[in-house]
Amino acid sequence: MDFRKQFFVGPGEKLKLAGIDPAHTGGHASSEEALPEIQKNVARMAELQALLYADGNQSLLVVLQALDAAGKDGVVRHLFSGMNPQGTRVYGFKQPSAEEAAHDFLWRAHQRTPARGEVAVFNRSHYEDVLVVRVHQLVPKAVWSKRYALINDFEKMLAENGTRILKFFLHISPEEQLLRFKQRLDDPARNWKISEGDYSEREFWSDYVGAYEEAMSKTSSKDAPWYVIPANHKWFRNLAISQIIVDTMEDMGLKLPPTRVDLQEIAVKYHAAEAAQEQRAGKTPKPPGKK
Ligand code: ATP
Ligand code: MG
Repeated sequence: MDFRKQFFVGPGEKLKLAGIDPAHTGGHASSEEALPEIQKNVARMAELQALLYADGNQSLLVVLQALDAAGKDGVVRHLFSGMNPQGTRVYGFKQPSAEEAAHDFLWRAHQRTPARGEVAVFNRSHYEDVLVVRVHQLVPKAVWSKRYALINDFEKMLAENGTRILKFFLHISPEEQLLRFKQRLDDPARNWKISEGDYSEREFWSDYVGAYEEAMSKTSSKDAPWYVIPANHKWFRNLAISQIIVDTMEDMGLKLPPTRVDLQEIAVKYHAAEAAQEQRAGKTPKPPGKK
């Protein structure tokens, strides 16, 4: 199954999240069945990231958005742990600092976009400025409603500059969220992750759904696609996202750069140096190419 086709939000589509089953498993029976595929994808993601780094011409930006406890942190932990930290960056976007708030809303995101050769993962992103900001009326409608077009221009500019953009909405049900909050309450190691605000935000569930539907429909495009990922089952979420990342990176035409040295010349020089060293050590030098 091509998850890119299945979960893609069509540009301008009248998206209705209520029509997408958050518990979808794509015909897979269990996490055990999906695990080998996930592991294969994670290993391939690591190889492709090394290639992206070596190629040095393009970059990848992965945006993760969701309501609380939908699994953004889990995606980072499970799927990006195989990538080399030297070329991979993860940023969590919280409430803007005073300095960030004193700039335009894209300022902080732009500073963290990936350089050529790099992968950047946004755990929340510039989309918060048309989501939480809209739901809680942190700025007037006249301000946030212009942001969709500004985001499209921004992402188009990044795409023109060689950045592949993938945007994932992790779709969970309110019941699944409540269950996960309860697990956070029950597990001392995870108590710190739960706050009063997590529960009170649930009252705004349908406002968030509306804000997400409009944001995704207005900002999904071929160059910066949104995917709605059924995320009640963590393993299916991991499978779908890893598969989409692999398929996308495979399509980027990444290649190892040409060798910057004359391999033949280096081999001859290396042999000469080796021979001199062996002579100093009193050994008979081997002819070139012999091990
Ligand atoms: P978890 O899902 O594990 O709770 P989290 O991403 O919610 O992780 P928190 O520190 O709990 O992390 O929350 C960050 C908060 O910052 C979120 O409530 C988010 O809506 C808020 N936030 C992010 N960007 C903005 C913004 N531009 N304006 C206002 N609030 C923002
Ligand atoms: Mg939170």
